[in-house]
Amino acid sequence: MRCIFCKNPSSSSKSVEHVIPESLGNKRHVLPRGIVCDGCNNYFSRKVEKPFLDLPAVRQLRFQQDLESKRGNIPSISGLITPDIPALLTRYPKYDFTSVQVSEPNLAKILQAKEGTMLFPLAGDLPDTPVVSRFLAKIALEAMALRLVEFPEGVAYLCDEAQLDVLRDHARKGYVSSWPVHIRTIYHQDGKTFGPDGNAEQIVHEFDFLVTDQSEWFFVLAIFGVEFTINLGGPEISGYRRWLEQTGGISPLYTDRHGGLAAIPK
Ligand SMILES: [Zn+2]
Repeated sequence: MRCIFCKNPSSSSKSVEHVIPESLGNKRHVLPRGIVCDGCNNYFSRKVEKPFLDLPAVRQLRFQQDLESKRGNIPSISGLITPDIPALLTRYPKYDFTSVQVSEPNLAKILQAKEGTMLFPLAGDLPDTPVVSRFLAKIALEAMALRLVEFPEGVAYLCDEAQLDVLRDHARKGYVSSWPVHIRTIYHQDGKTFGPDGNAEQIVHEFDFLVTDQSEWFFVLAIFGVEFTINLGGPEISGYRRWLEQTGGISPLYTDRHGGLAAIPK
């Protein structure tokens, strides 16, 4: 058995790999041990996942959705009490409680004021930087492995396919300084769908592959309604923009005009 990233023997590896970090609420998409070796697993959690999870927009999402880290913490975020008093907000979902922390001199100011409004910060958009594209590259290769995991020759194909080396190396080594990722919101972060039993369920994450008629391969991932798309073949996103124009902007996650499962070679 070899690791799909570094291609080194990985039979003695002990950790399973979460395709999407547990801190984003993923318990379901997990690769068995050895598909990603312990060395790459450890590297990704420190150098690829942590920088993504620490992005202001992602911290805010984790705060708003009560997403606990592996250690059970939810990141605090900074807020502002009008006119200009900084405050730190911390969530305690177990008690359905949010604490607001201010300095002592500021507390005196607040107590004297007749009124005040708590402002949540605007964390801004997700930046189109290597922090995001490496995170996507890692998830894309692992999502392929997830679909091939029952076919040992399929996983071996993933290791040996030279066309995937640039994606693999971007995730593992970050060689490409600018690998554009298409980012847009396709539904609200509290977006609901209806499960087979008719109950409303929140959509946490979903992903699929798109193969265009130009034979370009894209990986499309939605996390709490934010859609991320990366080209598996190289740092180029114009083919996806073209596809969106041709199909009226619908997410590939919600059409059947894509290759999907059937497109993955077995
Ligand atoms: Zn490895």
